[in-house]
Amino acid sequence: MLKQQHTPTGPTTGGPAVPFFSGAASIRRDWPRLEPRLRAVAASGRFTSGTEVAHLERELCAYTGARHVALVGSGTDALVLMLRAVGVGPGDEVIVPAYSFFATASAVLHAGAEPVMVDVLPDSYALDPERAAAAITPRTKAIMPVHLFHQTADMAAIGALAEEHGLLLVEDSAEAIGMRVDGRHAGLFGAAGVLSFFPTKTLGALGDAGAVLTDDAEVDARVRRLRVHGQSADGSYEHLDIGWNSRADEIQAAVLRTRLEHLDADIARRADLAARYTEHLSDLAPRVRTPRQAKVARPGNLVWYVYLIETDRRDDLVSHLAEHGVGTDVYYPRPLPEQPCLAGRRGAGHPVPVATAASRRAVALPLYPDLTEDQVRYVCDLIRAFHARGDRNGGGR
Ligand SMILES: *Cc1c(COP(=O)(O)O)cnc(C)c1O
Repeated sequence: MLKQQHTPTGPTTGGPAVPFFSGAASIRRDWPRLEPRLRAVAASGRFTSGTEVAHLERELCAYTGARHVALVGSGTDALVLMLRAVGVGPGDEVIVPAYSFFATASAVLHAGAEPVMVDVLPDSYALDPERAAAAITPRTKAIMPVHLFHQTADMAAIGALAEEHGLLLVEDSAEAIGMRVDGRHAGLFGAAGVLSFFPTKTLGALGDAGAVLTDDAEVDARVRRLRVHGQSADGSYEHLDIGWNSRADEIQAAVLRTRLEHLDADIARRADLAARYTEHLSDLAPRVRTPRQAKVARPGNLVWYVYLIETDRRDDLVSHLAEHGVGTDVYYPRPLPEQPCLAGRRGAGHPVPVATAASRRAVALPLYPDLTEDQVRYVCDLIRAFHARGDRNGGGR
């Protein structure tokens, strides 16, 4: 998810401004606890790969249940380094969903392999296991589901598919911190997974950071080597791999450690706000489709990173909300195979009708812990008024 701020200029007609996301508000809330920790990092004189990073990695192991967590520069870096660390490379195909943030596909290309983009399921927006099965070829090396918005992909079906065909299972769990299925945290169903700490994410830094999660000590060791230019663990300037600079930042680690302390409270708050949205919007069905839960989801599996609705007149609704000071974001305005730089590729040849329909209809509403219930009601009242107006003008088109 790319846009950090999509803040409209302010309401032209009454009501509070509701930015899509406010980085400044999120710092304001945490500042009293952040300040002393940031001062301590400054005083320590060590700004990368120090004790804050080491502590955060251990705390993320405890939170997720992963045996190993390696902090890197961003979620995108985590995807590329993870794919390389599990052995994906030139000549390989990796099956990914056609509906995701661009990095899901570009990371596969950066690892030297071909992303094969297949359609998603309409309820979860996640990889359709049957379409994935149909896309397997002798070159398929790995399958990489994405857990989008508020729920995981169907990991039982995708795990079984990977096992049946001897494929590596890796996860783009960049949005999925806190999501668990039967107690197992997202990212830990196969060889490895990732987290993104981009500022808008459920656990956001004050800049970029990401992590690779794995239970496999060798994969972890390879990621740790790749993030420091492939240098051997003793730091002797002996380079065993062509790696990359994706060192972890002490300031970001200190911020994330502070915020990890209230992550579960934030997740609970997000769930309350999502329930308010659903309560206020459900009678607008079928013109407004509120988020659905896939059959495999159970309430405890859900983490509301994004509250995504669908509607026929999406673009007009976005303008209407913007005119009244409400920020939104369109996740995602086109399916991956329609991205200009991917369109001609071998992996872009599969039909993706579900992803295409979602890209025309979906819009994300503001959702973050310091949003108020009055703001949620204001947004919902605007959506209601928009549809009432449309009805008066002769139907919902
Ligand atoms: C955010 C995100 C990424 C990329 O993470 P960055 O930290 O922004 O590099 C990758 N995949 C998905 C699904 C994401 O939402």
